[in-house]
Amino acid sequence: MTYPGLKDLETELADIPKANPSLLRAKSRDYYWFSPILKSELDGKNADLVLIPETREQLVRIASACARHKVPVTVRGGGTGNYGQAVPVQGGVVLDMTRFDRVVHAAPGVGRFEAGARLLEIDRALRDRGWELRFFPSTRRHATIAGFIAGGAGGIGSCTWGQLADPGAVIAIQVLTVEENPRFIELRNRDALKVLHAYGMNGIIIEVEMPLAPCQPWIDTIVTFPDLMSASEFGYALAAAEGIAKKLISIHDERIPPMMDQLATHVPTGQAMAIVMVAEPQFEAMAALAGDFGGTVSFRRTVAETNDAAFGTNAEVTPLYEYTWNHTTLRAMRVDRDFTYLQVRYPAHEELRIIKNLKDQYPDELVLHLEFQRRFGRVFVSSLPLVRYRDPTRLQALMEEIEAIGGQISNPHTYRLDGAGWKRTDAPQPEFKRIADPHNLMNPGKMFEAQTVLA
Ligand code: FAD
Repeated sequence: MTYPGLKDLETELADIPKANPSLLRAKSRDYYWFSPILKSELDGKNADLVLIPETREQLVRIASACARHKVPVTVRGGGTGNYGQAVPVQGGVVLDMTRFDRVVHAAPGVGRFEAGARLLEIDRALRDRGWELRFFPSTRRHATIAGFIAGGAGGIGSCTWGQLADPGAVIAIQVLTVEENPRFIELRNRDALKVLHAYGMNGIIIEVEMPLAPCQPWIDTIVTFPDLMSASEFGYALAAAEGIAKKLISIHDERIPPMMDQLATHVPTGQAMAIVMVAEPQFEAMAALAGDFGGTVSFRRTVAETNDAAFGTNAEVTPLYEYTWNHTTLRAMRVDRDFTYLQVRYPAHEELRIIKNLKDQYPDELVLHLEFQRRFGRVFVSSLPLVRYRDPTRLQALMEEIEAIGGQISNPHTYRLDGAGWKRTDAPQPEFKRIADPHNLMNPGKMFEAQTVLA
């Protein structure tokens, strides 16, 4: 799609750094190819121009020029989303925010960061002060704080601290509107929900203020179990054990470890696996609990080794969290391209029963992988099962069958926010969109309702 105003916009913004045209394709992609359906829908959707501003003044000029020349703008952080959130489906400008990467300020319990700050670098900066982000996605290395806010949900740390949408998880978000005369708007506490998980359609996030957790001496461990159900029962018990400080409880079907390169050697064939990050002084409490469910610790790093894996420079040593959440999917797909995945959660106290049903009913089509969280005062299981993909019709039928068994699906095979089930945040987002993006120029095409920019 070309826009009549594009040439004038380019001339007006000629002094702002931009990506070489050879990078247009790379800067227009994310990990949507996890889904064969999204791959066929989104391959070839490219930006016309990628701008990489360095100052607030340049950002304001870009927002104003897009509004005046009626050119769409899709904001981009690390480009690690996996539903095509950052793909400019209607072309126009991609706005790369990665030059805005400063810690604005940090104090006990709170930090404020520029939008393009990468999560690993935020934690690196906070560590010496004894604080850390409460939770981060497994893409911590590349993902930005604003990309997480606008496109992510939870991750490593969610077994203690819940998800972004939960009360208190975000303190404030500052956005810039896309209007002829752009305005900075500060949204605090509940108002932040107006922008949360909105796929960059409700204003350009400029800064984010987050609550922090005290740093713990975390260690990476692997625990093996005779089967998936005993590993899952352990996961549930550990998530419920408030006395044990933990950062990650990731449970894997016995078919997963052989696909996880370096990890495979630590898990005997045919055993299910738990990847656990626990505070080092509480390792023994965790191991004893694992023993109650037939678990054996097969691998354990020291605190220094765990920190080195995350923050060090040796690419050979991988933090264990890079085998969890959607990194499990990524690694399995590298071994077997026939896999795709689903996102399923479960009604309270029904989780283990439904998981057993899924395991029994789909012994070949599903390979189960669970991530334990703690939300709203209870254990919360979200699972990212690997699926042996056949075709779109079968995938749709499988989702309906899982819902009939009691699972709740959030469909990762759509790039439309309003087609994705429980991914959408319950907040007055449409009202705020009218304020932040009155011309419907931000990331158009990501909602069934409302948005098409007229060329
Ligand atoms: P991008 O992909 O660049 O953008 C995501 C969305 O945010 C887009 O819609 C974009 O337009 C918008 N956006 C970006 N910056 C701004 C801004 N400044 N203002 C307004 N909108 C903006 N997600 C999780 O929640 N938990 C996980 O554990 C997790 N694991 C993953 C593992 C793998 C292997 C992959 C591929 C993805 C995973 N994800 C996970 C999804 C994704 O990595 C995260 O949500 C991540 O936080 C996205 O950050 P990003 O900077 O890469 O965002």
